[in-house]
Amino acid sequence: MTIVRYPDKILRQKTRPVDKITDDIFALTESMIETMLNNDGIGLAANQVGSQLRLFVINLRPFDDKPEPAVIINPQILKMEELVEDEEGCLSFPKLFLHIPRYRYLILHYQNLYNEKIVIEADGLLARAIQHEYDHLNGILFVDHIKENEREKLEQYLMNCKPV
Ligand code: ZN
Repeated sequence: MTIVRYPDKILRQKTRPVDKITDDIFALTESMIETMLNNDGIGLAANQVGSQLRLFVINLRPFDDKPEPAVIINPQILKMEELVEDEEGCLSFPKLFLHIPRYRYLILHYQNLYNEKIVIEADGLLARAIQHEYDHLNGILFVDHIKENEREKLEQYLMNCKPV
């Protein structure tokens, strides 16, 4: 699949909740997982591949040699604790890395492909990735969170982004 790059408008659109898990969603998320892993990503949101569904895929074991991909449908983040700053990238902004504050710990509620309601705890890099993908579903991008001292770096990068 082709990953949509900034400034494509779909990245700014809010996704819509999934009410029925169809064969198309199985096929879509399988391709998304493949695309995420092929691009060394930790997560990939539906609108990054041109879909407007409220779902993302994520690698639950970002530090392991063996990935554990999961499909996260209609997510809700509950309880976030302790803001920490770290470097972050996005497959829609190739080669751009920025220091972004995110919560270190969170609890995530979601549905999987089998319509089961799942609750997980996450911290560190996984918690960061979940917040990043969750933002995508609301049309929010990591560049929206930067601090003043990275503004110049971002502006330089964006000047070289071609309009879509
Ligand atoms: Zn991203």
